[in-house]
Amino acid sequence: MAVGSFTAVFASLMVSASAFAAPDLAQQLCLDPWTAICLEPANRSAALEKSVAQARARIRREAVTQAALPKAKGGCGATPSPEMIASFKEQGYSSDEARIMAILDATHDMGQVQKVLCLGKIIEKKVFLAIAPVMTREQVLKTFEDVRIELMAAIREQMSTDPARAALAEEMASLVAKHQFILSDRYEEYGQLQSPKDASGKRQVKIEWISNPDSGICGPDFLTRNMFSTSTGYVDAKTKQATHTGLLGVVGCPGQWLELLNVPFGKPEQVLWQVFGHELSHQVHATRNRVADKVVLEDGTAMTFNAVPNYTSWISCVNQAYAVPVLPELSSSAKENSYNKFLEAELGRAPTSVDWRLNELSADDWGHIVLTRLASKRLSTPVERGQAAANSMRRLCRLPDGKLGVTHTDTHPSGRFRIEALLRQQPFREALGCATGTTPGAERPDLVSCRF
Ligand SMILES: [Zn+2]
Repeated sequence: MAVGSFTAVFASLMVSASAFAAPDLAQQLCLDPWTAICLEPANRSAALEKSVAQARARIRREAVTQAALPKAKGGCGATPSPEMIASFKEQGYSSDEARIMAILDATHDMGQVQKVLCLGKIIEKKVFLAIAPVMTREQVLKTFEDVRIELMAAIREQMSTDPARAALAEEMASLVAKHQFILSDRYEEYGQLQSPKDASGKRQVKIEWISNPDSGICGPDFLTRNMFSTSTGYVDAKTKQATHTGLLGVVGCPGQWLELLNVPFGKPEQVLWQVFGHELSHQVHATRNRVADKVVLEDGTAMTFNAVPNYTSWISCVNQAYAVPVLPELSSSAKENSYNKFLEAELGRAPTSVDWRLNELSADDWGHIVLTRLASKRLSTPVERGQAAANSMRRLCRLPDGKLGVTHTDTHPSGRFRIEALLRQQPFREALGCATGTTPGAERPDLVSCRF
């Protein structure tokens, strides 16, 4: 093509562009979803973000203070020791914060699991009270069921077109059907299933995974914005044998639900579409292979579920598309981690840096599919569907510590990568009315989307 015709095309584009109004949200997402969702002030509400942070701080102060009361007064009996308060003050904390930290310390004292469970319930109750104007606990549960139905239908539709994958797709859908949603009233039951029965048939309650003095997925105060998928069980210290005790669950940290207040576009249930789809799919994610990981049931029966064959073409596609440097090389500690051996057994070959992130990539793709299905069915305009995407994906803009989500970890791609991955999905681009053939103004706009 001659240089002259380039100039002519460019000039005509400039003229017509100036005649257009500012792009709407759907058009912004088609071009650059990260900027549209995370950076563009018009698509965020600083006031709502501030009110979520304020609610989190208020609930922490009130609930932890209540936990210090005796049980008879609605507390957990977590009496803070004066020495501990003094020690936190010496470390530079204000009197108020030192008192809160000392109560949390008393709550998590060794062998105090009932106090920890008690704090979780108090916090969750206050969180649901705070979000009552926008969503009830029942509506959260209903949304979980709505997402489950879409995910099961998507697995059947996308994986059953190939008769060779149909039986396994059905098994995957049935595992999604078994998933239970675990709120604070079931933390004790969940914790019991994390340890073996003793001689009298009783189990210890272990919930350090959810909350412990230093961290846990929900944090010492249960207020971290987090949710995780779990299959209960334990590993024998001597034999290293892993045993599954039968519960597949999605554990919601109470702090998660405060995000339902941050909906500049209304429709708080949309906040949960992608994340519920993501978590529900984790028990059937790309490397889930119970044969290779040698997990047994409590009666000693070997488990047989192996999802890998249904992901074979998807795994090779993402390994091509996202190879280094798109997703960076693993850290040196990752390569020495025992998970690397575990992964090797599950995949049957040496893992790549993409393989380490396969489970999050596949869970995200299922989450994107659920979001696309619900948005397409329930919302009629591209802008409304764009709002659903912004509501669903906003949680990935920032890490819980407030930093922008631009860093990849060994297991999770960055928030930016994950948001852009939604706009690489052709069905979602169609739902938004994006021009075909264009790709997001992304870190790597040429990347393909891999289909299951
Ligand atoms: Zn995940």
